[in-house]
Formats: sequence, C-alpha cells, structure tokens
Amino acid sequence: MNLTQEIEKRKTFAIISHPDAGKTTLTEKLLLFGGAIREAGTVKGKKSNKFATSDWMKVEQERGISVTSSVMQFDFDGYKINILDTPGHEDFSEDTYRTLMAVDSAVMVIDAAKGIEPQTLKLFKVCKMRGIPIFTFINKLDRMGKEPFELLEEIESTLEIETYPMTWPVGMGQSFFGIINRKDRTINPYREEEKLQLTDDYGLKENHPIEADEAFQTAVEEFMLVEEAGDDFDKEKISTGDLTPVFFGSALSTFGIEEFLGTYVDFAPMPTSRQTKEDTEIEPLDDAFTGFIFKIQANMDPRHRDRLAFMRIVSGKFTRGMDATLARTGRKSKVSRATMFMADDTETVNEAYAGDIIGLYDTGTYQIGDTLYGPGAKKVEFEALPQFTPELFMKVSAKNVMKQKHFYKGIEQLVQEGTIQYYKTMHTNQPILGAVGQLQFEVFEHRMKNEYNTDVIMEPVGKKIARWVENEEDIRESMNSPRSNLVLDRYDRKVFLFENEFATRWFTDKYPEIKLYSML
Ligand code: GDP
Repeated sequence: MNLTQEIEKRKTFAIISHPDAGKTTLTEKLLLFGGAIREAGTVKGKKSNKFATSDWMKVEQERGISVTSSVMQFDFDGYKINILDTPGHEDFSEDTYRTLMAVDSAVMVIDAAKGIEPQTLKLFKVCKMRGIPIFTFINKLDRMGKEPFELLEEIESTLEIETYPMTWPVGMGQSFFGIINRKDRTINPYREEEKLQLTDDYGLKENHPIEADEAFQTAVEEFMLVEEAGDDFDKEKISTGDLTPVFFGSALSTFGIEEFLGTYVDFAPMPTSRQTKEDTEIEPLDDAFTGFIFKIQANMDPRHRDRLAFMRIVSGKFTRGMDATLARTGRKSKVSRATMFMADDTETVNEAYAGDIIGLYDTGTYQIGDTLYGPGAKKVEFEALPQFTPELFMKVSAKNVMKQKHFYKGIEQLVQEGTIQYYKTMHTNQPILGAVGQLQFEVFEHRMKNEYNTDVIMEPVGKKIARWVENEEDIRESMNSPRSNLVLDRYDRKVFLFENEFATRWFTDKYPEIKLYSML
C-alpha cells in the first residue's frame, strides 16, 4: 500500500462526554466491533477500577507508565481508526483539552436521561472552536430518558449546532423496541433477531404486533416529522462541525453501535492539515514526516524518571530509527523508542502515518507543543497549542526556604511542559498556580517532590473566573479588590481573578471601558 492509501484510510477521533454517560462502554464496544479485543471489560480506567485521585497516584506507581487507555487503534471496514481518551472526573486536566487538538473529529456521548452536561459542553466548545466534525451518540435508550425531540432541541439550543438524526428510537426503557435506520428505513429490533422494514408510507412491510403499539405509532409520526421538517442532510456542514449526525442506542447492550460506526467511517474526515507558525498548512499527504507533541505523561514512579510524549503525526510516514529534528532547538536525533497503543497491549512501532498517534520515550527533551520533522521536510513549526482558562487556583511556596532555587526551577520546567499554569500576585510576586482540574495540582506536587526534591506548601485560593484585559493601560489600582483580584500570568499579562459570575458582571458594569477576554 502506498503512502496516500495508508493515510486516506485513517480516522482519528476523541470521545467527549460527561462522566458516566457511557464513554468507556462505547469505546469498548467499538473495539469489539473492530475485533481489537475479544471481550468487553478490557478497557482500562472503567468503573470496576475507578480510583479516587490519591489512589490514582498509587496505581500509576504500581503500573509505571500505563497509558493503554489513552490511545487505541483498531481496524474497521478497511479503515484504521485511532480513538483518543479524554480523561474526565478527577483526571480532568488541560491534557484533556489538548487531546482535542490532535484529533480530526469527535464523538459526543450523551446520556438520554441527562442531556447536555457541563463537561460535555466544555469539551464541545473546544471542538467547535476547531471546527471539527462532531458525531452524537445518545446513549442508554434501554432506560427511560428525555423525549428524542427534547434532546435534539437541547443539543441545538445549548450547543448551537444543527442536528441530523441518522437513526430514530422506537420507545425507550421498558418499552424500547428498537431503532429505525434512516438510510434504508430498516428497523433494528432491540429484543429480536429479524430486522423489519418501514414502507414509504410509514407502515410495516411485515406483519408484526408492534404495529398496533402506541410507542411504535408515536415513533413513526416523529420519524415522519424528522424527514419532512428536520434539518437537511449536508455533508459540507458535517465537515465544518455545523451539523451533527445523531444516533440513538445503548452502548451497554451493544445496540446501535454498528449503525453508528458504519456511518461514522463514511463521513468522518481523513487526517486533516495543520497550520504552522508561518501561517502555511502542512498537508497529511506531504511526503516528509512532521508531527507535534500534545501531551506528556510523566512516570509517577520515582525510580523511573522517564516520560512518554504523545505525538500526532501531521504528514508523511514515521519509521522507527529515523532522524527527526526538534524545531525548538534545531537538534537532530534518531527516534528509536516509540510505541503505539493497541487495545490490550502497547507495541513498538516500526511505521506510523499521518493521523496516527505514537508515544515517544522521553527523558526531558520534549515540551508540549513541540514540532518534529523528518528528513526532506523544510524547517517547520506548528502553531502553538491554545492556552485554556484555568478555573482552580492555589498559592504555592517551598516548605524549605533554602530550596528556593530548586523550587523555581521545578516550577519553570513544569509550566513549560504544560503541567500547570503560572501566575503571581501583582506586587509581592507570590506564585499562584492555575489549573482546569484538581489532578494537575497533585501531579505538580508529586513531581516537585520526586523530580526537584522540593516539598511544597499549597494553599487553595479556590475557584475563580480568570479574565485577561485587552487595554491594560486603562487598568487602575482601585480596580483590584478581593473580589476582582489582579494578578500577572507567566508572560506578565494582567489577569483579573473574579470571585464568581456576579463579581464579573458587577465589574463589567462598573468599568465598561475595560475590555475583558478569556482564553478557551
Ligand atoms: P463513562 O464514565 O462515560 O466512561 O461511563 P461508563 O462507560 O463507565 O458508564 C457509566 C455507567 O453507565 C456504567 O455503570 C455503565 O454500565 C452504564 N452504562 C453505559 N452504557 C449504558 C447503556 O447503554 N445503558 C445503561 N442502562 N447503562 C449504561
């Protein structure tokens, strides 16, 4: 197979959802369909071994670097599909957001009973900003949930995206009969083997008692409405993330997955291009290898300092042992230790292509956002990964004042690496750390101790709304207050940390001349 054929058959996506919507279950079922695993229950990090944050450290220690659940590749219908995990719960961090920079599409899992939940919304916004296609799987139809129209309406109004149901449910919970596939008007029954066929005038081709059922009649009326009055199918809008194909099903009962996967591979994009700092685009089919690092997983085991840097291959082909140049330093070296992640194993990669994600063993060479390029590529640097607005803050200091040097060196490196964000108070320069998830603080504390030999004192500042200022010259000292605390970020830009929504509104009403903005 040549380079073009290899790359064209790749699809790389992340599943986004609120905890408990069924992301792990769906991932497992997708892998089952791909034949990547033999039985469900092998995807790591699921309910049966869900850890409290402190346990997470212990478990990481026990398994060393264990990232099998971060990226998985499987085959389906001639395609090579890469799924990237977006950690939630206690594991939610900036890495979760950055993972979305490495994919070409996203699958949004929604619990039918709950609709759009906060974490889905946050992750969705990042996808939307990137304009990537979003596929929606409405899960848990085997339980009572919201009405299908209510769910579509909620998606459209909360997320500002059009919807196109690819399947339509007949009943739900106890009375869940199955789903109508819009493509061929077949009805896949939940509890029976044989598929049924819906006729053009919305009757059943076969004789089946369900036809007399109220749930069936309601579903068919709804389906008719969807066909007549719903948004039009528009491939272009799917590809720009302005319309989401919607599927109904039950991941737990492996129901609706095949319909989903079959359509997903038809409409999800092949690997897409990436923008460089010079404002040019690198195309996946370019011959020369290029890629960027979007995540660094540190080993929590103090005996093993090695880390794993996750790279998205943007163009060309990676081969083990190839020479690659790190754009930031201009240094060229052989990349010989790389892994790829299969469902129940990691293996050494010999070859990988644009769209694939590989893990590079790292002893401190790489930073998040780094570009690598291979022989034949022009010197290139990909656009910086976006900065995200942190929500949680901690004051931090060294326990031992004699260790200041180590302390600042540690902070500097961990901040550069993207582990945590750095802020400081205006006049006293007291360091403040910012994060999107609590886990980031714990990783910071742990690594400061193990890698920089520095115990730190962390003092929660709490949840804040961080806003940067366009016209810094107009800021006056009197605007600084406990409810609108003025601090500096790592680039010495001024940032207000607002107590809450109310304080933010109060401030913008009082000082309309100050133009506030947030990062993603
Ligand atoms: P995650 O936190 O999004 O990864 O969610 P999980 O996949 O771990 O699922 C959360 C819970 O919902 C688990 O107890 C699953 O067994 C359950 N679950 C997942 N899918 C379904 C489904 O289709 N129907 C029902 N009834 N439960 C489900």
